[in-house]
Amino acid sequence: MKNCLFCKIVAGTIPSSKVYEDDKILAFKDINPQAPVHVLVIPKTHIASVDEISEENSGIIAYIFENIPQIAKIAGLKNGYRVISNCGPDACQTVPHLHFHIVGGAPLADKMA
Ligand code: AMP
Ligand code: ZN
Repeated sequence: MKNCLFCKIVAGTIPSSKVYEDDKILAFKDINPQAPVHVLVIPKTHIASVDEISEENSGIIAYIFENIPQIAKIAGLKNGYRVISNCGPDACQTVPHLHFHIVGGAPLADKMA
């Protein structure tokens, strides 16, 4: 997608601090961390949000979750973490390219919203 920030990060036209990369997914540090460790995991193909997940593209979602444990390990998380995906306006999604936040590195708030 031409005007998508995270597609530009995948293409390398916008820099990122990479944590993990393979042919299908990219994990990089959030530019505005909300916890001591805050990593975003994205599919390299453009999917706008959780709302766009379907039978056709759900393989990449499974693949992302298969890789989250090792991404968390690489990021130094040893005592648990939270995986979050904001979807749409009420959830305050700001970048319309599907991403999973991995946050941790300290005890997190016990409420999610
Ligand atoms: P969301 O609000 O769930 O859509 O999350 C978007 C996240 O992307 C926010 O936590 C931002 O801090 C993060 N973000 C925006 N631009 C960049 C960037 N260039 N590099 C890394 N993270 C970014
Ligand atoms: Zn995109």
